[in-house]
Amino acid sequence: MFPVSLFCKFGWQRYTIFASQFGDLPLNYTLSRSKRRRTIGITIKQGKVRVAAPESVALHRIDSFVASKQDWITRHLQAQQTRLRDLPKRLWQHGETLFWLGQAMRLEVRPGHRNTIEAIDNTLQIRLSRRCTQPAAQTQKLVQQWFRQQAQHWLDTHLADMPAAIATPPAAWRIANYTAKWGACSAQKTLSFSWRLFAAPEWVVRYVVLHELCHLTHFNHSPAYWALVEHYDTDYREAERWLKQHGHSLLNDDYFSFSPH
Ligand SMILES: [Zn+2]
Repeated sequence: MFPVSLFCKFGWQRYTIFASQFGDLPLNYTLSRSKRRRTIGITIKQGKVRVAAPESVALHRIDSFVASKQDWITRHLQAQQTRLRDLPKRLWQHGETLFWLGQAMRLEVRPGHRNTIEAIDNTLQIRLSRRCTQPAAQTQKLVQQWFRQQAQHWLDTHLADMPAAIATPPAAWRIANYTAKWGACSAQKTLSFSWRLFAAPEWVVRYVVLHELCHLTHFNHSPAYWALVEHYDTDYREAERWLKQHGHSLLNDDYFSFSPH
């Protein structure tokens, strides 16, 4: 299974990529360190290996721990890569469908004077300059810019009116480029959300915003925290289920598999 869930990793330090000798192939893994961790943990998500370790453990010990789990990692990577191959691949080209707040949007890619993107009805109209040599990459970039802009606008319009935000207002909110989490809440009370989340239906987006808003009161996932979430949204488990089922394709730009219904 894709262990996609909501991450609220307070106190985590920056991610760094290290390569360890892994059989014949170098293995890239993402390492995050935490003061609160007691053990080294490995997770595999979307075909990528992530390692979490206590701050005090030396890098060579982490490397050898990862190497000792070689068989397990290889098995899971292969299984996930097979599953990813079975999903429809997104090529960022004319005629493909994207979702914005659960609504299907058709990509229309045509030549133009310069690179632009505009939403008209249920289409995303993209114009690419004739000098553009990488149409797929440029299309992806324009779509990402559009999503970030629209997502920020959605937050600016809706977030402050949510009852949980009225009760406990955040200091600020912004759109981020997360690929492994939907949202985050910082100790400075700033909420951040992945622009990729906004492909999900609006009721799911609202739940994720609520999820982070409730962290302003409880910086954890304690029973008191979940009681607060439920106080504002009695159906929140349904949104959690939706994210578990569809989240992996939302977070992976190269694949696409969900239908919002
Ligand atoms: Zn959380």
